[in-house]
Amino acid sequence: MNHYVYEFSEGSRDMADLLGGKGANLAEMTRLGLPVPPGFTVTTTACRAFLATGVEPPELAGEVAHALAALERAAGRGLGRAGDPLLLSVRSGGRYSMPGMMETILDIGLCDATVAGLAKASGQKRFAWDSYRRLLQMFGHTVMGVDGELFERTLAALKAGRGVAGDHELDAADLILLTEQFKALIHRETGERFPQDPVEQLHRAIRAVFASWNGERARVYRRRDHIPDDLGTAVTVQAMVFGNLGEDSGTGVAFTRDPATGERGVYGDYLSDAQGEDVVSGVRDAVPLARLKQLAPRAYVELSDHLRTLERHYQDLCDVEFTLERGKLWILQTRVGKRTAEAAFRIAYDLLDERLIDRHEALSRVSGAQLTRLLFPCFATSNDVAPLATGIAASPGAAVGAVVFDSATAVRRAAAGEPVVLVRTETTPDDLPGMIAARAVLTTRGGKTSHAAVVARGMGRVCVCGAESVVVDLERRSLTTRSGVTVREGDTVSVDGTAGTVHLGALPLTASDVGRALESGERTGPLSQAVRRALSHADRVRRLEVRANADTPEDAARARRFGAQGIGLCRTEHMFLGERKALVEAVILADDEAAREQALAALLPPQRSDFTAILAAMDGLPVTIRLLDPPLHEFLPDRTELAVRVATAASPDPHDVQLLAAVERMHERNPMLGLRGVRLALAVPGLVAVQVRAIAEAVAQRMRDGGHPRAEIMIPLVGAVEELRLVRAEVERVLAEVSGETGQSVRCPVGTMIELPRAALTAGRIAQAADFFSFGTNDLTQTTWGLSRDDAEASFFPGYLDKGILSGSPFETLDEEGVGRLITIAVREGRAAHPRLTTGVCGEHGGDPASIDFFHRAGIDYVSCSPFRVPSARLEAGRAALVAKLP
Ligand code: PEP
Ligand code: MG
Repeated sequence: MNHYVYEFSEGSRDMADLLGGKGANLAEMTRLGLPVPPGFTVTTTACRAFLATGVEPPELAGEVAHALAALERAAGRGLGRAGDPLLLSVRSGGRYSMPGMMETILDIGLCDATVAGLAKASGQKRFAWDSYRRLLQMFGHTVMGVDGELFERTLAALKAGRGVAGDHELDAADLILLTEQFKALIHRETGERFPQDPVEQLHRAIRAVFASWNGERARVYRRRDHIPDDLGTAVTVQAMVFGNLGEDSGTGVAFTRDPATGERGVYGDYLSDAQGEDVVSGVRDAVPLARLKQLAPRAYVELSDHLRTLERHYQDLCDVEFTLERGKLWILQTRVGKRTAEAAFRIAYDLLDERLIDRHEALSRVSGAQLTRLLFPCFATSNDVAPLATGIAASPGAAVGAVVFDSATAVRRAAAGEPVVLVRTETTPDDLPGMIAARAVLTTRGGKTSHAAVVARGMGRVCVCGAESVVVDLERRSLTTRSGVTVREGDTVSVDGTAGTVHLGALPLTASDVGRALESGERTGPLSQAVRRALSHADRVRRLEVRANADTPEDAARARRFGAQGIGLCRTEHMFLGERKALVEAVILADDEAAREQALAALLPPQRSDFTAILAAMDGLPVTIRLLDPPLHEFLPDRTELAVRVATAASPDPHDVQLLAAVERMHERNPMLGLRGVRLALAVPGLVAVQVRAIAEAVAQRMRDGGHPRAEIMIPLVGAVEELRLVRAEVERVLAEVSGETGQSVRCPVGTMIELPRAALTAGRIAQAADFFSFGTNDLTQTTWGLSRDDAEASFFPGYLDKGILSGSPFETLDEEGVGRLITIAVREGRAAHPRLTTGVCGEHGGDPASIDFFHRAGIDYVSCSPFRVPSARLEAGRAALVAKLP
């Protein structure tokens, strides 16, 4: 039968939707025979009915009365009974834990008629009156709506009058006076008297807890944690037990293993002669739980037994709140405990060894996000100090260094052995040497797919970008934050790329042993072992392959050490950074056929040697090489700087004049939608040929050297199959030419990126000319939403998040509903036209733990991500395969 109230003996842990996490676990512990104070839970259904109509369901009062009678029988006391009154706690507890966000009311049942009975039964007059004044304060504020500050002021005035500082210095007579003052305050503020009927107190408390579901705090919390607004809270009503009745009483929290490290053994804190709130408020220091062994040996043994029972039953780390009331142990709450990333891995694999869970379950209990945290160094304390500035967490890890404002200074100071943090408004290819030299990069503009973010992630460099509150003054060599703090070149800052924060000074760094152990393959401590076991299990069960985005032989080698199964994206523009930029410049400036051919020919050798080395690093595995993508003016100097230089020089450098003319000619208002990708391949004669020749010659060279090169050629930003057909014909022509010249049969699959909605929607046609599709989800997100990937995250996204339009950045986690739908269409229609079409994802989403599950479901063949994200992607691909198998 459906009802609104469940006694603890009626519920179970599977009923968290109805009873909330707390109510379900109390019921479970009751059924296990643990010493839980008796009680009952009012369901989330009742709360939802109340929130919808503004009144309790009519059956509720009767059901509460019935459950209360059972509670009184079990407790051996009665609510409102003058002699030895029963007191109740009324607590909120939804499906998902929202600590401190909703209301709790304690000591329900105290009134003028029962307070003396409590004093007598407990033998402690001060305790009884202190409990009464606490009820008046909590009830007056939470249920009757009196400003909490007024109670505090009344209390402060009394203490001042008595000349004491702490609440505990007030004696029973003081507290009797205080209760009178509180009652008067409530009457004055509300025109109503504090209800002396304990049953009325109970009903009003339940209603206040219902209403607190929609309190401001709770709503903000839910939005942040993506908890649905329509679940409602359950209300747990339980007999109070007291830990503040003297030396043989106390309260504490216990964990069945260490939630920080995962180590086996009971952990926790204990505070004698105290109530739960005293532990939270930190009035006195708690002692380690082990001390309880001496203080109350019998209770300690009993508690240890219960912890063992709970862990075996829940097959997981549990945390428990308990109270000792005059030597008698009560368990007040339990739940599967929160833990650090380190503890998650250790506990999962220890439980597997203890045969409490199986391999699949162990894998499902760790996540790619946790592994990411373990793979990078971190600041143990960055949460405790207010940051200097916040931005977008673009590349994880933590680093400390001296602020520098340009690439050359970064290189110079780093070469002298000084760790530096490169701060730029945004980075350009020119900044690469500085980014390599720096420990961290901070930009004030740009989002997760800005140049700084992509390059930093690729190199494993810490990066925070789009820190808009920071203003860089290059003249003065300083930066200023919104709060007015100025940081000069050479000052030390700490950059947390995992949290997206920047701190003044040097925070203490914790290195990542896991990252080192995984990359080197060396066998180290239990944590690295647990991570390795999780990864090898994931590798066995996953269907998705994991490749890396890598543009250099070093990155390729590292990616392979991290377990990459090839390269999914080699961005060839990254081969023309630094000094090599001049080579592209020469192609742009060539003013006749001969000059152009000469300039193009100069592009060949450096590319060929890079490709040869990358193919060697990835020997036997696929290497997807993308032809040049960005607009060519990205290889030219900044338009404004150049114009100023030309305008202010007495006799301008003719080279500058020529460059400026080219920059002006190529200027575009919307370069991201302009002459780039396949359009460039079609517009600049000879460009495709020289790149393909470099690839083909590298392949031939590797074949001659006895290797197994598997280059794939990828054309970016295709929107129409005709574009692909034309470029493909040119690619095939050059491949045949090089095969003829070298005597090696050079064959490379030719495919396209799917980065435009039109490409996805015409995938059936495009697939006829493609051997593979690789979803460029950065551009596909940008073009589907019509949002600039460079600007949106740092500018108006925060407002969108606050308003609930977005729950996170679609550049970070794939927008399944929109972009995902295009991917699904493209995979389906592409495969229908070309059954052996390979599909991959090489945008940043390929390494995002939360998106990988979707790619698995969408039937994608592989994801590709920066080398440092490869391990997390392998883990998530394994988890996605397990989840998909669940009934
Ligand atoms: C993409 O657009 O997702 C992609 C991988 O290409 P790029 O980031 O280089 O534009
Ligand atoms: Mg792209």
